[in-house]
Amino acid sequence: MSSKKMKFNTKTIHGGQIPEKGYGSVMPPIYQTSTYAQSSPGDHKGFEYSRTHNPTRHALEQSFASIENGQFGLAFGSGLAAIDAVIKLLQPGDEVISTNDLYGGTYRLFTKIFEQFGVKFHFVGMTSISEIEKRINNNTKLLWVETPTNPMMNVIDIEAVADLSKKHDLLLAVDNTFATPYLQQPLDLGADIVMHSATKYLGGHSDVVLGALVVKDAKLAEKLYFIQNASGAVCGPMDSFLTLRGIKTLHVRMQRHCENGKAVARYLKQHPKIEKVYWPGFEDHPNHDIAKKQMSDFGGMISFVTKGNDYQQAIRIVESLRVFTLAESLGGVESLAGHPASMTHASIPKEEREKTGVVDSLIRLSVGIEDSEDLINDLKQAIG
Ligand SMILES: *Cc1c(COP(=O)(O)O)cnc(C)c1O
Repeated sequence: MSSKKMKFNTKTIHGGQIPEKGYGSVMPPIYQTSTYAQSSPGDHKGFEYSRTHNPTRHALEQSFASIENGQFGLAFGSGLAAIDAVIKLLQPGDEVISTNDLYGGTYRLFTKIFEQFGVKFHFVGMTSISEIEKRINNNTKLLWVETPTNPMMNVIDIEAVADLSKKHDLLLAVDNTFATPYLQQPLDLGADIVMHSATKYLGGHSDVVLGALVVKDAKLAEKLYFIQNASGAVCGPMDSFLTLRGIKTLHVRMQRHCENGKAVARYLKQHPKIEKVYWPGFEDHPNHDIAKKQMSDFGGMISFVTKGNDYQQAIRIVESLRVFTLAESLGGVESLAGHPASMTHASIPKEEREKTGVVDSLIRLSVGIEDSEDLINDLKQAIG
């Protein structure tokens, strides 16, 4: 069966993964090699050197392309290495428009590395299409979208941004790390590039750091493969294997993340000590209609603030959790909790971070796939 005809829950297991020819190994072998024997100069089996090609990485790249409904997949040593490759498509003087509550690492890469090379970045509230359009000029080349955003769970209308990018002949890239292709397919909605930190849900077991790009267009793919090989930020065969294994259960994990996410969000919403819960599944979430339109469910990422907005109280809550682990990152089978004001967003001045909603008592949860009753009881004892 061609991978294109498969349904999503089959693609995660079989996309790009055919039994190996030598011994019929069902799992793609870990080709832990840097180079490949040639019978005469240039006469080889399609693999010359592992920065350029590696069979295990190749299987992963095919899997990425399959699950994101694309044609070409590229795997990198981290999510940021994948983003780095996209920005290297640009020239000095080019401009990029992105969201004002972008993942901190992406913001740092844009402003601290690429601005030095003459690329200009604008950050706007991308839930407003007119705000984006206002910043478009003759130098604009790329729109960089992340949705849902971290940690405020804003939802950006991918289809509307894609219409805008086509109207102005721009590239549109979407960071699909939070939603995963189980919930949202940016290429089908008109994006040119979809990017992942596979470190999160795709890998799913908090045991690997890896990045992905998927595109449909052959010319764009050729440019990105050139950058991947020329810059060399590739992932190794062992990490490729672990990510392939993670992807096989993506659909069952995501189903449970969504169920548990809903149960935890509802519990928090009725709690007398909780002021506000940010989760796109609630009807009173400002972008609920867009979330309903472009996502098949609402995921397991939730943020909340306590009444009184007390910094110390938030610290006490995250320290008291027993089933949730206090840690950065997200998307693994185990539940994690984070306190952005003292962890991921600590380097942003208080006034700045509060403009985007990252107040002192904000706590972010990555709801895992444990028993939801245990998760709720854990929150109950920690919040008091
Ligand atoms: C983690 C993350 C990244 C960066 O990925 P790494 O694998 O850590 O390099 C980019 N975007 C989002 C939304 C993330 O959560």
